[in-house]
Amino acid sequence: MGSTVFTNVRIVDGTGVPPYSGDVLVQGNRISRLTRDARMAPVAGATVIDAAGATLMPGMVEAHTHFAWNNAATLDQIQLMPVEEHTLWTAGVAKTYLDHGWTSCVGAATAKPRLDVVVRNAINEGLIPGPRYLAASQEITVAGSLGDDMLPHLPYIEFSFGHPVSGPEEMRRVVRMFLKYGVDSIKLNLSGDNLTPRSDAKTSWMSDEEVAMAVRETKLRGKRVAVHARSCYSIKQAVRHGCEIIYHASYTDEEGLDLLEANRDTVFVAPGLSVIVRLLHDGEQWGFSRKWAVDAGYGEEIEAVEESLRAMHKRGIRVLPGGDYGFIWARHGENARDLQYLVKYAGMTPMEAIVSATKWGGEIMMRGKELGQIKEGFLADLLLVDGDPLTDLAILADRTKLLAIMKDGVFHKEPALRQARTTRWSLPAA
Ligand SMILES: [Zn+2]
Repeated sequence: MGSTVFTNVRIVDGTGVPPYSGDVLVQGNRISRLTRDARMAPVAGATVIDAAGATLMPGMVEAHTHFAWNNAATLDQIQLMPVEEHTLWTAGVAKTYLDHGWTSCVGAATAKPRLDVVVRNAINEGLIPGPRYLAASQEITVAGSLGDDMLPHLPYIEFSFGHPVSGPEEMRRVVRMFLKYGVDSIKLNLSGDNLTPRSDAKTSWMSDEEVAMAVRETKLRGKRVAVHARSCYSIKQAVRHGCEIIYHASYTDEEGLDLLEANRDTVFVAPGLSVIVRLLHDGEQWGFSRKWAVDAGYGEEIEAVEESLRAMHKRGIRVLPGGDYGFIWARHGENARDLQYLVKYAGMTPMEAIVSATKWGGEIMMRGKELGQIKEGFLADLLLVDGDPLTDLAILADRTKLLAIMKDGVFHKEPALRQARTTRWSLPAA
């Protein structure tokens, strides 16, 4: 690995401080030097990238990723993909995330027991390109809830999107099976979902005995529990049991918000707004009418989740972007739209949305002291962006605006060399 100097860059460093101009030196896989409002002295043997005032920011972190979802319209269509095709698909999706500037992803559930694990291992071994990745289990669920798609006349687990269990002993067996396969997190479906009408978003399904068993077995092995929790009861249940990653968190009350706030140093919330927003506003083109979406409960849920997220953001609870891309209405690669959703629905400023995608992203990857910020000593996961994401977050959802993508000190996308040394951004005088 060589050395690279990014010169003449406008740095959005991920901490939330206003942008500043400067130079950044990458040596090996780390950021070794940073100069602020000054040019760096020449570094022997380094490749110099003159960015002409483009923005340099940390690579983004997706907090709720499903590499195995295959851009289908139903859970069945994801599940019934044969395992060989599904493995290749999942590996291809990993590259798609890196192509779109996501240098780290937190797996939120996969569709066959070992899909996430083998793809994570292949990325780490350098067999395929992909982000830093934490591999998930399948969704563990209970009879009748989200993810239990076993057919009454064909009761085979292979037909089921999630893995249904009943009682703490069965939970222990299945959690241990996924841990044996090498997952980084166990996923529990605590609440229902409006995609499954007989177990809607406001319903709660798993018993405390089952959740307690899953958490105990998972923590014994130093791993984390992530939960699908849309209902108010399930959010509180998750926090009470010490689950660190809460997906959706749509319906809250004062008690739930207090619990989340009291645990804000350990808990992450990733709402995964794409399903609700896209089905409500863009569903027609895929055969989901506005009336269908409202009848399914999405109109009510978007109002509830907006209120919840705004309250959480005010209380300093970390709300992160990403979530549930990989359906026909929100395909892999469109994930950066979530930053705009965080502004619209959680009341963040564009800078706060970037901090949640970078600094907090490093924290949810459990590497907050070395990942997700542009700082000396941090890992060199960097994006060179053509334009100012602070005035237009939509830039981050347009991969053509990503001039360079670096992961672990290596370019995944190399910048075209530029001749001009002009600065397109004039910063207000300090
Ligand atoms: Zn999900």
